[in-house]
Amino acid sequence: MTSNLPLIQDSVEKILHALPPGVQLLAAAKTRSLQEVQAVIEAGVELIGYNYIQEAIPIIEAIGDREKWHVIGHLQSNKVGKAVDYFDMIETVDSWKLASRLDRYCREMGKIMPVLIEINSGREANKTGVLPEKVEDLATKLSTLPNLRLEGLMTMGPRFGDPQKARPYFQATRRAFERLSAQHLPNVQMRHLSMGMSNSYKIAIEEGATIIRIGNKLFGERE
Ligand SMILES: *Cc1c(COP(=O)(O)O)cnc(C)c1O
Repeated sequence: MTSNLPLIQDSVEKILHALPPGVQLLAAAKTRSLQEVQAVIEAGVELIGYNYIQEAIPIIEAIGDREKWHVIGHLQSNKVGKAVDYFDMIETVDSWKLASRLDRYCREMGKIMPVLIEINSGREANKTGVLPEKVEDLATKLSTLPNLRLEGLMTMGPRFGDPQKARPYFQATRRAFERLSAQHLPNVQMRHLSMGMSNSYKIAIEEGATIIRIGNKLFGERE
């Protein structure tokens, strides 16, 4: 394996320096080694996201709670217990079934879990997330669960070569975010809008992102 650790340091610093206030950088760490994850942390990243719980656990055990760990991939029901044990935020809640199961585990563990609702802003058949017109319904139900705290929305959006094409999907997600904020639901604190990846994060920031999720641009292209 080639060492790209010095490059990682550099990439993180470049992105962090260019971030406007109020925007956080999350490292999307799928397939990366412990050393690579440690390198982004040393360079100043405070949020680490994982798509798969099993992949994350040994890394979280090695690094511990000086970082905030986010679930950014679809969460399967049978992984809910581990997700609650190990993670600080679930960004991908997209059904009442998942939400109520999470709430139950959190109650058992005596934990309040911050969550985001994932929106399928591109209405893509092969993607998870709720459709934009369904988000208010799920948010209203979620607000009744005492052990979850809804803190915002997350979206992937379709991937384009030209990141400008991602803009309408970020805008649609932000509009949904604003509608929900205006409702002032009990137990809901709308403050995070997680959107934008390596090729689209600048557009996402222009459209109101507060968390950008970056993989390749921090760690280098994946094999
Ligand atoms: C991999 C991944 C990212 C980051 O994608 P890059 O193109 O590598 O920056 C962001 N969000 C999710 C959910 C991912 O799985």
